[in-house]
Amino acid sequence: MPIKILSNYSDKNSKLTKQGHGIVQWRAGSNQEEIKASCNDANCLFLKGGAFMNPVDGTIIPGKKIVTIPGTSMSDPIYNDSKGNQLMKVDSCFAISGTPYLASYRMQDDPRLKGIEGLKRARGAVVGNASTVMSKEELEEVDTTIRQSLKHHILYDHAWRKNPWVLDHAVASCNHIADIRAAISMGASVCSVVLPQNIIDQYRGKKVEGFHMTQCPENVSPKINCINCGGKSGPLCDAKTRSNLVIMFQQHGGNSWKRQKKAIMGNIAKNATPDEPTTGDKSRDKRKRKIRVSMTLEKLQKAIKQGDRQTIVTIAENAMQRVSKATAKKYRKFLEVTCE
Ligand code: SF4
Repeated sequence: MPIKILSNYSDKNSKLTKQGHGIVQWRAGSNQEEIKASCNDANCLFLKGGAFMNPVDGTIIPGKKIVTIPGTSMSDPIYNDSKGNQLMKVDSCFAISGTPYLASYRMQDDPRLKGIEGLKRARGAVVGNASTVMSKEELEEVDTTIRQSLKHHILYDHAWRKNPWVLDHAVASCNHIADIRAAISMGASVCSVVLPQNIIDQYRGKKVEGFHMTQCPENVSPKINCINCGGKSGPLCDAKTRSNLVIMFQQHGGNSWKRQKKAIMGNIAKNATPDEPTTGDKSRDKRKRKIRVSMTLEKLQKAIKQGDRQTIVTIAENAMQRVSKATAKKYRKFLEVTCE
């Protein structure tokens, strides 16, 4: 029986590698159907996302019963149940709805796979869940083979309840705190959980069952990613060489406030950037406008970071001139300004 994985080498994935360094990565499943099935079989909450969940015990609350305080440029949205407990909106999976999945169909033999010196780390199941697509023995073989030539193998799995044997090789991907407690009791050495930033801030530095809770360093520093995380001690998400850790990831999928905020900011920057007289060269005009919009965006981001109200108000006023009353009202709320 062939082992169902798709493997390649990448130096293009900014989450995993930095310039000039590459990582070996593999997908759980040898084609898109198998990858999708591995996530279905793991009953992964992120496949669809969008549900409102208590981050402590995992209870799902119907959308109709949610009290929402909308997010702004300064703060994440807050969701509460009728008793005032803070909830989170479950994110959707970036990998299964993004390039890691889409690129699977055109993966070919890459000559670089035949041997590159100096490789030290591999990232498994970039998309999909290993334990629902291969057996314990097969995963053991993959893990051992990788570790014969590479020092570290980063792997996550959502189906650890169903297939606890996977915890010998993989970080337990958890949905909430109760999940983390269960994974630890079942033998996890490292757990991960995806949370909104305002909930990560409440848990950073705390412990669950003696496991230290920390945010993925890639989330907080542009200089760190999986290729250099942890330095000589190796990446935090190598379940074989690390222990007693809970890695918290900021939500980054389609339902995350991070993405929604980015989209609103981009929109404001677009509308706040005045049109310039045309030069007659359409593509040149387009390029120039793109640069001007990104400059406005940069200015807005900097102003928000530094609390420079005057610049925020000026950008807001410019943007509001070009949009409908309803959109202007949204911008005002988002930027927390009162100008017209
Ligand atoms: S904690 Fe380290 S190894 Fe884990 S995802 Fe973040 S950068 Fe990669």
